[in-house]
Amino acid sequence: MDLLDNFAMFFSGLQQWLYETVVQPVFYSLGLASFLEDAYAGTAWFLVGLIQIAVLLAIIGPLERWRPVDAVTDRATIRVDILYTLIHRLGLFRLALFFMLDPLFDSGFGVLRALGLGTWHLDQVWPGVSDQALVSLAVYLVVFDFVAYWVHRGQHQIEWWWRLHSLHHAQRQMTMWSDNRNHLLDSMLVDVIVVLVAQLIGVAPGQFIAIVALTQLSESFQHANLRFWFGRVGERLWVSPRFHRLHHSIGTGHESPVNAKPSEQTEFSAGPPQGKLAPPGGSEAHAVASVGASERREGPPRASSAPPGGSEAHAVASVGATTLGGHNFGVLLPWWDMLFKTVNFEHRYDPTGIRDQLEQHRDYGRGFWSQQWLGLKRLAGRA
Ligand SMILES: [Zn+2]
Ligand SMILES: [Zn+2]
Repeated sequence: MDLLDNFAMFFSGLQQWLYETVVQPVFYSLGLASFLEDAYAGTAWFLVGLIQIAVLLAIIGPLERWRPVDAVTDRATIRVDILYTLIHRLGLFRLALFFMLDPLFDSGFGVLRALGLGTWHLDQVWPGVSDQALVSLAVYLVVFDFVAYWVHRGQHQIEWWWRLHSLHHAQRQMTMWSDNRNHLLDSMLVDVIVVLVAQLIGVAPGQFIAIVALTQLSESFQHANLRFWFGRVGERLWVSPRFHRLHHSIGTGHESPVNAKPSEQTEFSAGPPQGKLAPPGGSEAHAVASVGASERREGPPRASSAPPGGSEAHAVASVGATTLGGHNFGVLLPWWDMLFKTVNFEHRYDPTGIRDQLEQHRDYGRGFWSQQWLGLKRLAGRA
């Protein structure tokens, strides 16, 4: 706790300093004094981003060079992911969101308040216990993570949402920079949901920043090109690079009726209607479909890092475990995947990407703008 206190003091000192020496004078000289309160909060987000990028460069980067899964063959695509990271973590995206959505949020929250919602604080359910700083932080973190799990399930199982989220999965050269590689509409939607939830459960602004910062840092680590797991027990406590890489794998990671080959569609027709959130623990039709999907894994175009001769065993092993729409959707805690039976603890590192990139040479774009544009075209059913 002392360490946390010291860090909090160090952080707010830095925030104060940056605000007074740079932000405040600039805002005054531009005649934007009415935005100073928001600018003070913005300074905190900017600082969080700087600290995160420092951790990426100083710690996660060297780890990637220590035990990489894939050889780095495509530096251009990594540079685009770095651009996504800078836009999101240093506040440009948040700034745009602020100007677009803040008026909307203000009136929206006004309506909520009028309905008697949005003033409740989850951490006050058990005075003296749940409102202690660390307990309160943990409670909010678990609730946000639960929401994040279901948002991620939605991104995969609601067809139009997958058309956006697939950009994130199309990265075949995954690194610690890949977390923010998302369609801007997708990012916006997720942020709106998170802000709404924050409002409904009454998380304090300082705690909200701490939770988002911790989540983002952990997400960067999970995407690292790093052969690393937390051990039998650790894997069940916190999402590791192995855990999330499996979610990105071609095959067991994220295949679902939405992105299956047309020839398989008939098999899926016995399942629940597409575009609806399917109940966990898929029906028999899905099990059959999953076997097909696993068998099609044979001879992946890129060198698989799975042990030789292991694919058959995996095909069999994943029959029981495969659930409609893939595995390992958890963001921080693997618990929701365990609870809703979407977890896969297999220790393997398969090639990442989407099957249609290999089989139909579907193009998800190389540069930032082509990725965004193609995402819109996919959404409209034209790409
Ligand atoms: Zn996903
Ligand atoms: Zn990911």
